[in-house]
Amino acid sequence: MARPSEADLPLFRQERVNDPEAALKLLAAEAKGCTRCDLYRNATQTVFGEGPADASLMLVGEQPGDQEDLVARPFVGPAGKALDKALEAGGIDRAQVYVTNAVKHFKNEPRGKRRIHKKPDTSEIDICRWWLGNELDIIQPNVVVALGATAARALMHKALSINASRGRLIALEDEMKAVITVHPSYLLRLREERDKRREFDFLVKDLRLAADAARRS
Ligand code: SF4
Repeated sequence: MARPSEADLPLFRQERVNDPEAALKLLAAEAKGCTRCDLYRNATQTVFGEGPADASLMLVGEQPGDQEDLVARPFVGPAGKALDKALEAGGIDRAQVYVTNAVKHFKNEPRGKRRIHKKPDTSEIDICRWWLGNELDIIQPNVVVALGATAARALMHKALSINASRGRLIALEDEMKAVITVHPSYLLRLREERDKRREFDFLVKDLRLAADAARRS
């Protein structure tokens, strides 16, 4: 079978090498109309990643939450605030980091006036990985941080224990490295101040490890 010519490739692929920023914008525009799985039905809009197309560090969360769904920006709700605090404590400038989610629509269950967060299932993570794969392909960060089990699954293509995997660099394809750590929403669920402080310090340590490796690469 003949190889497709460059003109047959999706526009974002044609732009990828010469203009990653333009490629990323095209990819985000395409994602707005995604109906690959059913999650778009119950959500307001696609929440795509944001940040520089040449970022050396990428953070991947689980999925947008209620607030993210309404404003179409990742990590702007309570978990986003916790992430911002951890980034600040780690001396990492969020403006230099590309931030995205493994799943681009808010999975939820309407209950009265509220929308209750529901964890994406394996098939939804696997289907939505198409977008994450293309974000990685365009940005080609040195280090990707998986924030939580959903992101770890999307990145590593298998279920992993966060506790057994965190605190070290894991080699991926194309000389990329991964750091696996908790999702910042985990900190919000802890009751004891002492536990919150300890877990916050662990998260900052993991983010620092990733940022230092991203700079060195
Ligand atoms: S969750 Fe992902 S795959 Fe499913 S509709 Fe949304 S963007 Fe498409």
